[in-house]
Amino acid sequence: MTDPFLDSCRAIVGAAFVLDQPHDMAPFLTDWRGRFTGSARAVLRPQDTAQVALLVQACAAHRVPIVPQGGNTGLVLGSVPDDTGTAVVLSLARLNQVRAIDTVNRTVTVDAGAILHTVQQAAAAHKLLFPLSLAAEGSCTIGGNLSTNAGGTAVLRYGNTRELCLGLEVVTPQGDVWDGLRALRKDNTGYDLRDLMIGAEGTLGIITGAVMKLFPAPRATITALVALDSARNALALLGLVQDACGATLTGFELMSSVCLELVATHFPQLPRPFTAPHAQYVLLELSSSESEENAVRLLESAIGSAVDQELCDDAVVATSLAQSRGLWNIREHIPLAQAAAGKNIKHDVSLPISRIADFIDVTDAALLAAYPDSQVICFGHLGDGNLHYNVAPRDGASHDAFLANQAGINRIVNDNVAEMHGSISAEHGIGALKRDDLVRYKEPVELNMMRAIKAALDPLGIMNPGKVL
Ligand SMILES: Cc1cc2nc3c(=O)[nH]c(=O)nc-3n(C[C@H](O)[C@H](O)[C@H](O)COP(=O)(O)OP(=O)(O)OC[C@H]3O[C@@H](n4cnc5c(N)ncnc54)[C@H](O)[C@@H]3O)c2cc1C
Repeated sequence: MTDPFLDSCRAIVGAAFVLDQPHDMAPFLTDWRGRFTGSARAVLRPQDTAQVALLVQACAAHRVPIVPQGGNTGLVLGSVPDDTGTAVVLSLARLNQVRAIDTVNRTVTVDAGAILHTVQQAAAAHKLLFPLSLAAEGSCTIGGNLSTNAGGTAVLRYGNTRELCLGLEVVTPQGDVWDGLRALRKDNTGYDLRDLMIGAEGTLGIITGAVMKLFPAPRATITALVALDSARNALALLGLVQDACGATLTGFELMSSVCLELVATHFPQLPRPFTAPHAQYVLLELSSSESEENAVRLLESAIGSAVDQELCDDAVVATSLAQSRGLWNIREHIPLAQAAAGKNIKHDVSLPISRIADFIDVTDAALLAAYPDSQVICFGHLGDGNLHYNVAPRDGASHDAFLANQAGINRIVNDNVAEMHGSISAEHGIGALKRDDLVRYKEPVELNMMRAIKAALDPLGIMNPGKVL
């Protein structure tokens, strides 16, 4: 039986790039955490911006909802379709080229489907740095990073993906191409449509290309793991290191002892830097534009002051690239160790940095009182005020049964976040997973403005429906 809509898609991209058989579509329909499998009418795989525009025009004509997808590593069910089977997944994976590097302007222009690691390498080939870095960098795409305004491990120094972007190319919900690939650091010519598209999670249009900023590669990078007895001391250490090291501080990650134990259990091949356990650990990184001696001197002086002030119990400093990689591997394997351990309830929250220790104390106590079988797996980008505050069952308990507590656990965590003027999504976005929470925690005035923007740009409501709003 012919399907006029799919026939028009085949005429645009070729039959080989319109997948409509279940086994071909399967890899595109399940989220990275394996918690949800949706259903789609087809998976469309265009190769360039012109094909994306024609496909969107066909979808608009036939009122077919579109779910844009990059690397499908998102954590809030934004990149997979619902279970109605009415939507198409539009994969950007074949738009994967680095289009140009301008070493004078210090910018790189990329296709939206370019893998983050590829962009980092393209910059490095010119002795420049593209600083966005996160554990999914081997699979996630620039378009996905932009659409979720991803954070990662270097926000403290370089900002979120939004701060790294100068221009965008976007296919609108009508199938028009907006060429906003401007490589300007200053451009005050009206509403900032670029910033509207960034973090929109595919609900306002499809990003097909971007101009991203590059930076001088640091001359030396030095990493240390510091052991402490509380998150409060970690906050004091942050202030101390910021004062002592200024802009050389590029990463400041908090990890609880539970996180390190989990990694050691599931990835025994990774280093175990300390023999005795400590309550909290901070992984910190300095990047010097001067020299390795400069970085070492700054770090040793900061850690020396922290020891004098009794803020830290122990510290190891990586003396080689391999050792530094080993320490970062511990941090980056926490999500993987959690996935290996079973299901858990994730929260990606943001707080004023000054409230982080209070939040951990109050929320840990409230959760353990309400759910004594729970275990908090808390880590995150402390320097950005961002915690991944995840809750799992204690050893031996059933993970599936534990998930029945999700609504109650979310309420405790999110209410505390709201009470302390934080955000229920720091860097992962809203997707379908947190959509209902958004209604509870966002100001009605703000929600109404968001709905008005969505209705104005996407009146047919075909762009990633059911996500964010
Ligand atoms: C192991 C692991 C570690 C992670 N660490 C971090 C971290 O440190 N910091 C952080 O911020 N995030 C982190 N994430 C989540 C993060 O959001 C994603 O890894 C990444 O930014 C998403 O890119 P992607 O290409 O996989 O997008 P996808 O998952 O494919 O899509 C994400 C969202 O963007 C939309 N989208 C994708 N491409 C486009 C496009 N071209 N145009 C319009 N909309 C589009 C999708 O519809 C969806 O709503 C992590 C994920 C994993 C699995």
